[in-house]
Amino acid sequence: MAEKTDSDSRKLLRRLRDTLAEEGEGQERLDNITHLIADSMGTDVCSIYLLRDADTLELCATEGLNPESVHQTRLRIGEGLVGRVAREASPMNTGDATAERGFRYMPETGEENFTSFLGVPIQRLGETLGVLVVQSRDGREHSEDEVYALEVVAMVLAEMAELGAFVGEGEALAAPHQRQILFRGGVGQEGAAIGHVLLHEPRVVVTNPVADDPVVENKRLHDAMDTLRGHVDDMLSVAMGTAGEEHMKVLEAYRMFANSRGWVRRMEEDIERGLSAEAAVEKEQSAVRARMGRVPDPYLRERLHDLDDLSNRLLRILTGQGGTGEAGSVENPILVARNIGPGELLDYGRDLKGVVLEEGSVGSHAAIVARALAIPLVIHAERITAEALNGDQIIVDGDQGLVHLRPEETVAHAFRDKMAMQAKAQERYSSIRSKPARTRDGVTIGLHMNAGLMADLPSLEGSGAEGVGLFRTELQFLTRSTVPRRGDLAALYGRVMDAAKGRKVVFRTLDIGSDKVLPYMKRVDEPNPALGWRAIRVGLDKPGVMRMQLQALIRGAAGRPLAVMFPFVAQFEEFKEARGLLLEQIERERALGHVLPEGVEIGAMLETPSLAFAPRQFFELADFISIGGNDLKQFFFAADRENELVRRRYDTLNVSFLTFLEQIVARCAETGTTLSFCGEDAGRPIEALCFAAIGLRTLSMRPASIGPVKHLLRRVDLAEARAVIDTARASGAQSVRPAVMDWLARQT
Ligand code: PEP
Ligand code: MG
Repeated sequence: MAEKTDSDSRKLLRRLRDTLAEEGEGQERLDNITHLIADSMGTDVCSIYLLRDADTLELCATEGLNPESVHQTRLRIGEGLVGRVAREASPMNTGDATAERGFRYMPETGEENFTSFLGVPIQRLGETLGVLVVQSRDGREHSEDEVYALEVVAMVLAEMAELGAFVGEGEALAAPHQRQILFRGGVGQEGAAIGHVLLHEPRVVVTNPVADDPVVENKRLHDAMDTLRGHVDDMLSVAMGTAGEEHMKVLEAYRMFANSRGWVRRMEEDIERGLSAEAAVEKEQSAVRARMGRVPDPYLRERLHDLDDLSNRLLRILTGQGGTGEAGSVENPILVARNIGPGELLDYGRDLKGVVLEEGSVGSHAAIVARALAIPLVIHAERITAEALNGDQIIVDGDQGLVHLRPEETVAHAFRDKMAMQAKAQERYSSIRSKPARTRDGVTIGLHMNAGLMADLPSLEGSGAEGVGLFRTELQFLTRSTVPRRGDLAALYGRVMDAAKGRKVVFRTLDIGSDKVLPYMKRVDEPNPALGWRAIRVGLDKPGVMRMQLQALIRGAAGRPLAVMFPFVAQFEEFKEARGLLLEQIERERALGHVLPEGVEIGAMLETPSLAFAPRQFFELADFISIGGNDLKQFFFAADRENELVRRRYDTLNVSFLTFLEQIVARCAETGTTLSFCGEDAGRPIEALCFAAIGLRTLSMRPASIGPVKHLLRRVDLAEARAVIDTARASGAQSVRPAVMDWLARQT
């Protein structure tokens, strides 16, 4: 076969485009395409295999093989040469197919006559949709140029499949973005929701993969590259001086790619072949994504990620598509994103029903906002942004870390039933809303709620919480590009207290640092951020922001009682210093003639085991102590709360942990120090019951947990529960959970 020139390739693409533009059913189009390719490449055979389901390829059209085998011949991914092309997502070119590893003869197709084989994956943005094959009798091996030309054709086919050119041809062709997919991710925030996908960055749709004039397309590409370079330079100058080393490294990599001749040259070649500028970007992006899946080295994978991100930006510039989604555009929106910043997430407002991220972590800013918005969050849902389309039905099961995309009706139905049952239970809880959480043997447990946004406050009424046991103050700092002003903070804190209508609000000072970096804070790269420079450590070393926040709290109180607690105190001295800072600010405010709070309670969060062993004087000086169980547990078991591999490894009701908590209860009892527990575990009914049984009298939790926790507490005899726990402990059990569950099951 003669060397094909670029204009041959362009001619083929143009004929392909015209064929696709004709009216007709999907099958007819596919038949025309195989005919067209075989004809213009001078091969005996051209076949299209498409994915029928995640593991099966089906012969969907052929020119040259036995027509009877269409829709009959099926292969598993990895099976035969075609299956191998799909699995490896890279071309296979041989003059002697029978000699190749994995060759599998399929008698029904009559392919024994064809020794030459060239197969290329049909893929869009790294997602394999099928395989395009040409075969011949003459034993030729195809030139690099021909391989490339066929790849370009496959790219256009993938693009057309995306646009629905083959829809109507059965499951195989409808495969992309139609079938149900289950994602197993991690729990970012518990809860459940059903709704519709709202993509944070909607997929760019390329409607014109084939272009007539390469000169025009080249100019478009170069103009877009210029704009992209400008964007990268802007990002670099904004980040200079404030971003950490990691962030700067990423931006430097962006700049390097944006100036990479190799990348541009490959796209120019694609354009020469007849692709439009955007299709050329996508073709190279697909190759990058395919490589991403194969590269084991994490550093290289990250760099490929960067290039992928840059390609997205380039596509948006070229197509003018982009911007972020709008919550109002779909019903019951569930946001799907690769990752998202806290400000962006808050911008979507309270309409969001849930969030699904490809990346993210339990302690990420997005997770903090999701927690504040009380919506389920699933993290590490790999590849969901490639699979989900705006408006797709989606179920977020934040309790299990599962996401059902385009669920079958039976699944959706079962899920709706489950949610209806939960709603019914919530209704049941509303009947006990104004009743105390008093156990059968007459012990009353104070139930408070955790909050972080002004918008959380209405839940005080609805949930029946006695007050706010933990007001996380990070959000107002995380969602801005500069340090919030004292006056604004004071006004906000004042409004929070107004909304609480005299109920107590415990404000926790800024818990920030290490992984929770403020956009305007100079980042310090730390080898072990969870054990690093965070919370009170930052506040004491650089007290400017903490002083300002304390002043804002005093002013916000405007003569009312004020309760402040300091996070992550590890030793007495830190508490003394922080407390001293607050007292200093009170004196300062007094000197300035401002109204002082009616009384100030100063507490510490007990989040590191060391504080439990602090001198007695610490317990005497602290007005109250709140156990931050999320952190305390991670340090007690040395198991990172953000690491999916270990975070559920140790049960909160593990005997060692419960005994440790009990010792804290005892130490506080000795000095008469008020003690509460405000980690996530307080909102889990069984855990809450056990905490109450070992002597905790105040718990602070998500508003939605108050009903279930109260419901259980009101049903039990605490002394009996205590006896069950003690017996389990004495038996050598690792966790008291089985015994407590068993006992509860026997209750009426
Ligand atoms: C905790 O650690 O339990 C806690 C309440 O604080 P945060 O989850 O904000 O770290
Ligand atoms: Mg904490």
